Amino acid sequence: MQVDYLIIGQGVCGTLLSRQLIRAGKKVMVVDNGNTSAAGRVAGGIINPVTGKRLVRTWLIDELLPFALKEYTAIEQELNTSIVASTSILDFHYTQDANELFNVNSEKDQGYLQKSTDDDRWNPYFRFNYGIGIINPCLLVNINALLVSWRKLLIQKSKILEEPFSTNDCKILTDSIEYKGIVADKIIFCDGAAGADNPYFGMLPWSKDKGEALIAAIPGLPGNTIYKQGISIVPWQDELFWIGASHDWKYETPYPTPSFRQAVTDQLDYWLKLPYEIQDHIAAIRPANFDRKPFIGFHPVYTNIGIFNGMGGKGCSLAPYFAKQFCEYLTDGKQLTPEVDVKRYTKILSR
Ligand SMILES: Cc1cc2nc3c(=O)[nH]c(=O)nc-3n(C[C@H](O)[C@H](O)[C@H](O)COP(=O)(O)OP(=O)(O)OC[C@H]3O[C@@H](n4cnc5c(N)ncnc54)[C@H](O)[C@@H]3O)c2cc1C
Repeated sequence: MQVDYLIIGQGVCGTLLSRQLIRAGKKVMVVDNGNTSAAGRVAGGIINPVTGKRLVRTWLIDELLPFALKEYTAIEQELNTSIVASTSILDFHYTQDANELFNVNSEKDQGYLQKSTDDDRWNPYFRFNYGIGIINPCLLVNINALLVSWRKLLIQKSKILEEPFSTNDCKILTDSIEYKGIVADKIIFCDGAAGADNPYFGMLPWSKDKGEALIAAIPGLPGNTIYKQGISIVPWQDELFWIGASHDWKYETPYPTPSFRQAVTDQLDYWLKLPYEIQDHIAAIRPANFDRKPFIGFHPVYTNIGIFNGMGGKGCSLAPYFAKQFCEYLTDGKQLTPEVDVKRYTKILSR
């Protein structure tokens, strides 16, 4: 079988890139091992336009957020499933200083930050002393629905091999790739955190970041907004809530830890006035890197081996925009944004 692109991984990146390439009329084959602990299967799916204690706008968000909404809405229609919801984050301030900082910033940046005018409404649900700010608009992406529905479509069209990919089974020739009877012009790795051990791209400056979350039933809590106080309580599937997440760059184990569960339940016991029941505890590694910008493009030495990875904790907002850009680079020779082009690491990759 002959294809244009062999894509390794069907997480958020592999899904959105394979969709763009198929739309552009290219032949693709995706290989995915269905790892249930891959980042996309554990993520909360939030697109939050501001970041950090100082609540500054995240990189490119004014373009990424509307683009993501447009793309996910189009995919919903194509796959006939619900994937994206516009929502807001209620930011319960920890301290009076945090409250003042939010108010000052909301006056400077009226785009995403608003003062809450009905704090009292949340008194039956939460214990809080320093007011609430609203971050709006935000998006909430049902990543599970996206991955499952896209996979179904790939299976129907015989465009996916559900198995682990190994470079040992792959022959890299000068102008083609051979893998188990498939001949491809190019191979593109969308293998998430496994990219840090990839023989072609493992030397990039990865900074893998473990995250944990709890899944809980919280009967009576309205499920149309995100609640944040350090951790976030996020509407999830089956009327449950996702509660997370941690960031740990020095983790000893990739698995869920008792210390995370204890810290979160301690916080919930104080903050949340409603009873809750924990139903699951999940963990995964974010494919993050030191400069916090994606890795996109082709290897400087093996020029038919590409990468679409490094989305860190922001795959839901970055991947739609850059999947489209990468596809246009591949099909029409358009430029990649220099900050994401893996060319910036030519020296490291050429060693
Ligand atoms: C706890 C947590 C919370 C998060 N919350 C958010 C959030 O709220 N918003 C947000 O935007 N992002 C969030 N993220 C980050 C988000 O999950 C990532 O940015 C995104 O999943 C990256 O997508 P990806 O496709 O690169 O990697 P992944 O989602 O990890 O997908 C990689 C895919 O490749 C497959 N694969 C890997 N190696 C092989 C192989 N050898 N053979 C076959 N298949 C292979 C895996 O099975 C997987 O399907 C969170 C992450 C974590 C861990």
